[in-house]
Amino acid sequence: MKEVAPNWEAVIGLEVHVQLNTRSKLFSRASNKRTTTLPNQSAGLVDLAYPGTLPVLNRSALELAIRFGAAINSPIARVCSFERKNYFYPDLPKGYQISQNSQPIVGAGVFHLWLEDGRSKAVRISQVHLEEDAGKSIHDRLSNATVLDFNRAGTPLLEIVTEPDLRTPTEAVACFRQLRALVIWLDLCSGRLDEGAMRCDANVSLRTRGSKDYSTSVELKNLNSYKFLEKGLQYELERQATLLSNGNTVERETRSYNPASGRTESMRRKEKSEEYRFFPDPDLPPIPISEEFISRIRSSLPELPASMRDRFVEKYGLAPDIAYRLTLERSRAELFEATVKLCAAPHEAANWILGELTAIQKTQPSPPRKTSVSAKQLALLITRVKDGTISSNTGKELLRTLWETNLDIDEVIKTEDMSQISDSDQVELWTKTVIDENLELIPRLLKGEEKLYEFFIGSVMKKSRGKANPHLVRQSLERRMLKQCKDRSTEDD
Ligand code: ADP
Ligand code: MG
Repeated sequence: MKEVAPNWEAVIGLEVHVQLNTRSKLFSRASNKRTTTLPNQSAGLVDLAYPGTLPVLNRSALELAIRFGAAINSPIARVCSFERKNYFYPDLPKGYQISQNSQPIVGAGVFHLWLEDGRSKAVRISQVHLEEDAGKSIHDRLSNATVLDFNRAGTPLLEIVTEPDLRTPTEAVACFRQLRALVIWLDLCSGRLDEGAMRCDANVSLRTRGSKDYSTSVELKNLNSYKFLEKGLQYELERQATLLSNGNTVERETRSYNPASGRTESMRRKEKSEEYRFFPDPDLPPIPISEEFISRIRSSLPELPASMRDRFVEKYGLAPDIAYRLTLERSRAELFEATVKLCAAPHEAANWILGELTAIQKTQPSPPRKTSVSAKQLALLITRVKDGTISSNTGKELLRTLWETNLDIDEVIKTEDMSQISDSDQVELWTKTVIDENLELIPRLLKGEEKLYEFFIGSVMKKSRGKANPHLVRQSLERRMLKQCKDRSTEDD
C-alpha cells in the first residue's frame, strides 16, 4: 500500500465475536458443550424457534459478559435489555437474532494494546454486548442443496466492538490477539480459532493522512485467524487505494477473504442498521443488575495480564517484550512465577518457558494440554543446568522427557547417564583428538575463521556425545589454539 498511497492512512475497526463457554445456550437449556460432531444434536426447541417457546436468559452468560467488562474497566449497565435484529437467513429460524443494541451490558471503554515496539495504544471500545449465534448453513455437503446444522444456534456470543482506532493491519492483529488472550485468561472462551470459538469482522477504509473524517468502509466478514485478518486487510487496503487513486469510489459492502486466491470478494451490499429494524424483544423484559452482583464479579477477577506484565518488568527485571510474551497465557505466566519462587532465576525461567517449552507445546496435538511440566520440575532443571550437572542441551532433552512423564529429575539424570562431563582431563583429551584429526584446518582456524571455530567446538561436543561441559570445551580449544600459535611462531624463528 505504501507505494500506491503514501498520503493515505488506514482506518480499521474490529467487531470481535467470542463464544462464551457456558454449560447451556444463551436462551435455552440445550447443551453448549459440543461432545459430538454429529449435526443437530444440541439445539433446543427455543433455539429451533418452535412456536410457543420462550427464551430464558442464561445467568452465567450475563456473568461472563460482566466479567469481561470489569476486566477492561468499562461501565457495566445497571439495566440491560435485548432487542430483535431482524434479517432472513435459513440458519436463523426465528427470522431475527436476539442481540443487544441500545442498552448493551457493557458500555464504552478503552482497551490498552501493547505494541511490539514497547508503545501502548489506547483503542476505544464502543460497546460490548451479548447475542445469540446462528446455526450453520453448509453449502458443500450436497451438490444440489444447502443443509442446516443448528448445533451452534443459540450459543452465547460476546461481541466486542472497537472504534475505528486501529491504523495498520499489524495493529488490528495485535488487537485481536490480545483480546483473545484476555478472554482465555478470564476463562470466558476456549479461544479455539480453528473451531470458530472466536471470529472477527474487520471494517476498513482509507483517508487522507492527517484528516479527521471517516470515509466509506468495507466490512471483511468472519476472519478466523491472525493471518487471514492481516492478509485480508492488506489486500483490501491495496484494492481501495487503487480504486481511489483512479478516481473511483469505494462501495459500502460486506466482503469475505478468500485464502486460496489471497483476495477479498464481494458478498453483499452492507445493510444499514435501520434495515435490521431493531426493537425490544417483548419476550425478554429489561434486566436490572445489582451493584452487589457486579462487585462480587469484580472481586473474583484474577490478576490481569497487563498488571502481571508490568509487575514482571518491575520485580524480576525482565525486558518488556519478554514480560509481554510470558503474560499472553495465564498458565505460562503462573508457571513462570511459581518457578522463579523456587529457583530465583527469572531470566533463565523466562528463556526456558518461551524457548524450549513453547517449542514442545507447538508440537503437541490439538487441543494442547496446558503445561505438563511443573514449576518444581522446571526449577530443578534450571538449577541443574546452572550448577553444571547437565548441559543446556541435555536440559532440553530432559524437558521433553519431563513433559511426558512425572519422573524425578535427579533420578533421570542418573539412570540415563545424562550428567555433564566437567572432568577437564577428559575434555582435554577429546579436544586434542579433534585437533590431531584436523591438522590441515589449523592454519585457517588460527586466522580466526568463525565457522571453523564452531566446527571444532561441535566436533568435540560430538566426541563427548553431547555431554562435555561446553564452557570447558571452549576453554580447552582456546588454550590449544594459543599453544599452536606459539609453536608455529617458534618454528618461524
Ligand atoms: P455498522 O453498525 O453499520 O456495522 P458501525 O458504525 O456501528 O457500523 O461500526 C461498526 C464497526 O465499523 C466498528 O468496529 C467501527 O469501528 C467500524 N467503522 C466505522 N466507521 C469506519 C470507517 N470509516 N472505517 C473503518 N472502520 C469503521
Ligand atoms: Mg457490523
